[in-house]
Amino acid sequence: MTDIEELLLSRIRDVADYPEPGVMFKDITPLLADPPAFTALTDALADIALRTGATKIVGLEARGFILGAPVAVRAGLGFIPVRKAGKLPGATLSQAYDLEYGSAEIEVHAEDLLPGDRVLVVDDVLATGGTAEASLQLIRRAGAEVAGVAVLMELAFLSGRARLEAPLAGAPLEAL
Ligand code: AMP
Repeated sequence: MTDIEELLLSRIRDVADYPEPGVMFKDITPLLADPPAFTALTDALADIALRTGATKIVGLEARGFILGAPVAVRAGLGFIPVRKAGKLPGATLSQAYDLEYGSAEIEVHAEDLLPGDRVLVVDDVLATGGTAEASLQLIRRAGAEVAGVAVLMELAFLSGRARLEAPLAGAPLEAL
């Protein structure tokens, strides 16, 4: 493990049975509160953005906003919020996806993603991959290109990587 990986891991708190029994919640608030760790994370994600040739950063509500916004500033790129349905005031593209029980919907302002854009999706945790998959569908439906998906953590036992293989179509999934 690299020094940076060790630093990041040491600042993530495992909370058992939150928000419901059986879930091990990965709490990143200790990392956000620690300047060297938050800076190292921002720099590592910004490196991925530059390496993948991204021209825009999409952040997934809500922790993807906290991570994606400083990455966009650091990399000199625009930041685009992908929000839960009903929160954006302008004309939107929306995408529904399945949850374990029921379904959810995410939205983006239609004018924010355009043909010619190359978009990197940023979030804290990749779990089942449902949210990230829906965001990739939004990006493609807007006519933009997918640069990749970059997350702090991947919960490998939930197989999100396999779920994203087809929607990524060769673009990288990077988990720090
Ligand atoms: P999924 O769509 O299943 O990949 O879930 C990803 C979203 O849910 C991300 O935005 C995460 O912030 C959140 N999430 C899922 N599982 C966890 C977990 N164990 N700890 C923290 N956040 C999680």
